[in-house]
Amino acid sequence: MNKKYHIHTFGCQMNVHDSEKIAGIFDETGYGAAADSGDADIIVLNTCSIREKAEQKFTSELGRLKKVKQKNPNLKIAVAGCIAQQSGKKLLKRFPYIDFLFGPDNIGSLNTLLDGGNGRTAIEHNPDYHTSIIPMKREGGLKAWVSIMYGCDNYCAYCIVPYTRGRERSRPASDIYDEIKSLADEGFKEITLLGQNVNSYGKGLTESIDFPDLLRKIHEIEGPQRIRFVTSHPRDFSAKLVSAIRDLPKVCEHMHLPLQAGSDSVLKSMNRGYTYDDYKAKIDMIRAEDPFMAVTTDIIVGFPGETDDDFEKTVRALTEIEYDGIYAFKYSKRPGTDALSLPGHVDEEVKSARLARILDLQESICYRKNKILEGKIVEVLADGPSETDSSRMTGRTRSNKIINFDGDKDDAGKSVFIKIVEARMHSLNGEKV
Ligand code: SAM
Ligand code: SF4
Repeated sequence: MNKKYHIHTFGCQMNVHDSEKIAGIFDETGYGAAADSGDADIIVLNTCSIREKAEQKFTSELGRLKKVKQKNPNLKIAVAGCIAQQSGKKLLKRFPYIDFLFGPDNIGSLNTLLDGGNGRTAIEHNPDYHTSIIPMKREGGLKAWVSIMYGCDNYCAYCIVPYTRGRERSRPASDIYDEIKSLADEGFKEITLLGQNVNSYGKGLTESIDFPDLLRKIHEIEGPQRIRFVTSHPRDFSAKLVSAIRDLPKVCEHMHLPLQAGSDSVLKSMNRGYTYDDYKAKIDMIRAEDPFMAVTTDIIVGFPGETDDDFEKTVRALTEIEYDGIYAFKYSKRPGTDALSLPGHVDEEVKSARLARILDLQESICYRKNKILEGKIVEVLADGPSETDSSRMTGRTRSNKIINFDGDKDDAGKSVFIKIVEARMHSLNGEKV
């Protein structure tokens, strides 16, 4: 009987997509997916180290698995992702019941590790990883992530990503094109291009191509109806990209543009490479082209040195820009990053109060913005039955808003037109027209 694997994924889309690659390799090696982690012969924890909380979730799951392994000594435990990369052999020393570990650039080494052929670690950064073609197991057949670049060169002072995922490397455009072409042939309808800083796509490639050129190239592929991308770095966000979005109907009207903070002195010590005015000018440029473009952002509160006055500037930015949604985080100390040695670390209670304040403010903004949409008819790509009420369907608007509606199960995977009848804080309710 085939051996069975289970993957537990922590963290961002990048990790979810890496897990699709890990699953692809297992499938090729002859393993089958376990229906439940309890049936697995091997469990892979694909880890995230972006904030301390993500690490805590991993260690608590590892503690649980230790007990499972005591009862079933044949169970193998593998650790992948950013914590494997960052902690390496120290992790094996601290948790000797881990069988092996591999970093984000070493997913291709999984078969060798399974054979016991490569010792217990594969964590060397691989400068050629962007040219590797790795099998992938994508679920659902509707929406697919496609990596266009790996790593990051920005070294924002708070961020661990450049250390765990290595230097920025763009994938050759022809590899990206071929991958999307085959996804189109398989019937995928929505493609999300992934990179830590998609706006600097093309750096280091022999061909002369930038991100707007890449968008134009893949837009020609027949089949997918929607193209999305994350994440845009505000510094590299260009007028050329705004024109490409305007010209390319499949590119959805949603932009995730992380601001991080509203104060110029905080932005400077974060090493973000723009001021608030630079950022706001780019938002104005987007909205001049399309006033209905949804814009979302990431915010960090309590970065070292952030005063009450600095924080008020973030509050002011949220009020002024009126985002469609935000992801807000308390600053979390990350080993090896520059921010650790900055003066003025902010108390945990102050961070919590600041976080609560902006989340509260954003809720009212989201509700107000959604309320304006009542009565409008929008195109929705239906995902399937809603998780909270299986008698209703759920999907996303082109602007990436969640919408629940009365529809048929057959609508799943289709584009349907929905009239928005009720605005909620974080979703919309609609009916089919
Ligand atoms: N590359 C993307 C960018 O620059 O916008 C973001 C990648 S990161 C996975 C997602 C978000 O996590 C960041 O935008 C930032 O807001 C947040 N983040 C990263 N490091 C953090 C830290 N040490 N503490 C709190 N939030 C952090
Ligand atoms: Fe981290 Fe900054 Fe790179 Fe984003 S751009 S991954 S926040 S270093």
